[in-house]
Amino acid sequence: MKVEDLIAKHWHHLPIEEVVELLESEREQGLDRFAVEHRQEAFGPNAITAQKGQSPLIRFLLQFHQPLIYILIASGLITAILGEWVDSGVIFGVVLVNAFVGYIQEAKAVNALAALARTMTTVATVMRQGEKRQIPATELVVGDIVFLQSGDKVPADLRLFQVRDLQIAEAALTGESAPVAKDHGLHGRETVLADRHNMAYASTLVTYGQGKGIVTAIGDATEVGRISKLISAAEALATPLTRKISEFSNVLLYVILGLAGLTIVVGLLRGQPFLEMFMAAVALAVGAIPEGLPAAVTITLAIGVSRMAKKRAIIRKLPAVETLGSTTVICTDKTGTLTENQMTVQEIVAGGVSHTVSGTGYNPLVGTIDNLENAADPGISSALRECLRAGFLCNDSQLVEEEGVWQIQGDPTEGALLTAARKGGLGPETLTVNPRLDTVPFESEHQYMATLHDGGLGAPRLVYLKGAVEAVLARCITQLDRMGNPVPLRIEDVQAAVESMAAKGMRVLAMARAEMAPETCVIHHADLPTTMVFLGLQGMIDPPRPEAVAAVKICQTAGIRVKMITGDHPVTAAAIARQVGLYNLGSTRGDGVPVLTGAELEKLSDSEFIDRAEDTVVFARATPEQKLRLVEALQARGQVVAMTGDGVNDAPALKRADIGVAMGITGTEVAKEAADMVLTDDNFSSIEAAVEEGRGVFDNLTKFIVWTLPTNLGEGLVILTAVFLGVTLPILPVQILWINMTTAGFLGLALAFEPKEPGLMLRPPRQPDAPILSNIVIFRITLVSFLMLGAAFWLFAWEQRIGATLAEARTAAVNAFVMVELFYLFNCRSLEKSIFKLGFFSNLWVLGGSVAMFLLQIAYTYLPVMNRLFQSAPIDLAVWGRTVVAGVVVFVVIEIEKKLWLKKGRVGA
Ligand code: ATP
Repeated sequence: MKVEDLIAKHWHHLPIEEVVELLESEREQGLDRFAVEHRQEAFGPNAITAQKGQSPLIRFLLQFHQPLIYILIASGLITAILGEWVDSGVIFGVVLVNAFVGYIQEAKAVNALAALARTMTTVATVMRQGEKRQIPATELVVGDIVFLQSGDKVPADLRLFQVRDLQIAEAALTGESAPVAKDHGLHGRETVLADRHNMAYASTLVTYGQGKGIVTAIGDATEVGRISKLISAAEALATPLTRKISEFSNVLLYVILGLAGLTIVVGLLRGQPFLEMFMAAVALAVGAIPEGLPAAVTITLAIGVSRMAKKRAIIRKLPAVETLGSTTVICTDKTGTLTENQMTVQEIVAGGVSHTVSGTGYNPLVGTIDNLENAADPGISSALRECLRAGFLCNDSQLVEEEGVWQIQGDPTEGALLTAARKGGLGPETLTVNPRLDTVPFESEHQYMATLHDGGLGAPRLVYLKGAVEAVLARCITQLDRMGNPVPLRIEDVQAAVESMAAKGMRVLAMARAEMAPETCVIHHADLPTTMVFLGLQGMIDPPRPEAVAAVKICQTAGIRVKMITGDHPVTAAAIARQVGLYNLGSTRGDGVPVLTGAELEKLSDSEFIDRAEDTVVFARATPEQKLRLVEALQARGQVVAMTGDGVNDAPALKRADIGVAMGITGTEVAKEAADMVLTDDNFSSIEAAVEEGRGVFDNLTKFIVWTLPTNLGEGLVILTAVFLGVTLPILPVQILWINMTTAGFLGLALAFEPKEPGLMLRPPRQPDAPILSNIVIFRITLVSFLMLGAAFWLFAWEQRIGATLAEARTAAVNAFVMVELFYLFNCRSLEKSIFKLGFFSNLWVLGGSVAMFLLQIAYTYLPVMNRLFQSAPIDLAVWGRTVVAGVVVFVVIEIEKKLWLKKGRVGA
């Protein structure tokens, strides 16, 4: 195959035979191993090269593009013009350090998110060497034969040659949101991309039906590869909170600039020299602006993302980290999320007789069906056999045995039916006798699957149907009696059997059969007969996940309501709900679990719907459209809703929910694309763990803000007070810069690593519209700021009074400031609990950061180069003692303050 064969071909305009020939492939068998290896070597993986976003240099330069930095640069330039070389040098040094730190932090956060994105691989179903298999989409080569089905993301550009009601949403490529119906006919050469209906393009989403096509382009050569652009890092990292904080910083900037101007005016009026007042104004501006805040928020969120990934919750959209913390309702699927998705048939009702099936798991060799061979009454076994046959033939899954372990490839519900059929003596020959001719696949909106089979020479064709009881019974008019003869359907008896099985928590599937004309080759939903013979019921258990039971309990104590939304039968749903501990007030069914079915929901008016959405715990036989309505109804009541989903039709509800949660194992690509978060283990307990992490992240953000703001406010106050009182500045601008740059990194960031507080899930969820800082916390910030102001002036005055030089007195004031920040950091490890309760060693980052910060202050005080740069001077031990006293006083005051507030209620927002 030559490369030029692949380039700029109008594949949509070529007959399929020619396409297959040009691509040197084979329609039925697919490529062989050698061709695949050869092509992989020649053309590389099927991946789009991430377009280089901004170059590192540009990203570094962008760090200077902040109002605060403009002020610093302007101050640095003016100080240089005024001949203050050292000050100017330090200011520029700090600007550079700030840019470096910002650059590294941003790069880390971007990399963390990109690494997570890479863990989400897409799989493709291909035909190779005559074998259908699933491979990572990156291993696809040109010429591969690919199968598409509803929910898939198209893995490469394909020329379609077989379609069945195939519809693809091509918004990613054309911007058109309505799905396009595909065909396999020929299209004119000039047909525009959006109208090439015999092509499927990489990155678009299959919303309905099935198809088969041959790969015409991979990776960068695909249509999407040619237009792809990397989302800019800034956009990916922005969240409502970071936006709120930068807005806050911008407002603050103007306030501070105003105050700085006022400082100059007041100083000049008092007859102070301009240079000194200008430097004071610079100090005020530099000190009062919380420049570390945006970076700290981003890095805390990024740490949250990686913590959640460890708990098997992959965050796709950063704002989700924040929203998770304020989730008030979780709407969850049942199968696989609250339950194990390990199905075993335990009871079969056929011919009016109930049979018990023993054994658990998929191993068909362990366990039997009672009354299977009742020689005296062959009719029983024939009804039973037909019921088992339906489960076996109308089935897309496979049982496989590897080293004595029996596993299922495909849907566990179908796996259970295969195991039961094997326990009943049916083997692979069943399919040889009645080969399958066509399929109506299972879609949750229809709740059944049907297959067409050859009935043998001259015999009519057979349709087997399996699915939800209501869906199957609606098409039946007769049933098999004990002797296996058709008799009129006795709906009440069937319903009673269903209720009895469902009450034990079993998922019940009904089976039916019909004869079709011998020439029938294809079947559609519309031509399934409504005169079918009901064959029986198979009831399977799916045990609840023990960890889900525990997680539901945690959610309930955390004030989060858990609702189950399932496609299953209401009685089964209620039984499982009871087993996992979902209970509440409201309408009830059975013995006290409030359940509503999709059909009942349909009958409600809009306002009734909203009421019932709030007070109902279990929604059974619910459709994906109702999931969307439920999300909207709950949101109308101010709830913050997390909603799970896996199917194509769940996408709108996932998008609409505050947190859309897709299943990583059973979920379709469409659902994952729409979700904010993907669970790699499909497990409910992972949602709970993510919520817990979300609360922890928000806590740590608040703690950082509560720690950092007093420094800024305190520094601003020191300058303002000095100028207004007309006294010497206790701290110089360069010294303020030093404090801000070092403490934010060494002390403040350690709070991002603060472990979650015990009792985190005993609190109610955070109100989403609550301000970040509560009044109590604002009070604390103000209190600490004034204590810092007091400490700085106290030490500055004390040292001068006992004869210290100006440089020594200022060094004492700076060290007092840092010491207060250091002790206060320990207070901030919890907003309401005493640090003695948390233990001093539970965040080693705080301890390590404190030691590093202390060593830096030693260097600041004693190294001659630092003395020259920052006008610091060596001080003796007694002065250090006084700085420590300042720190301890603040620490004790805040611990007492916490205790006082705690008596009155919660401290945090
Ligand atoms: P959830 O995960 O939301 O609890 P579910 O798995 O119970 O969902 P669906 O997958 O929509 O819900 O299934 C709905 C009903 O369709 C099931 O109760 C069952 O009766 C029937 N059903 C499920 N899988 C199949 C299948 N493979 N073939 C035929 N019918 C099926």
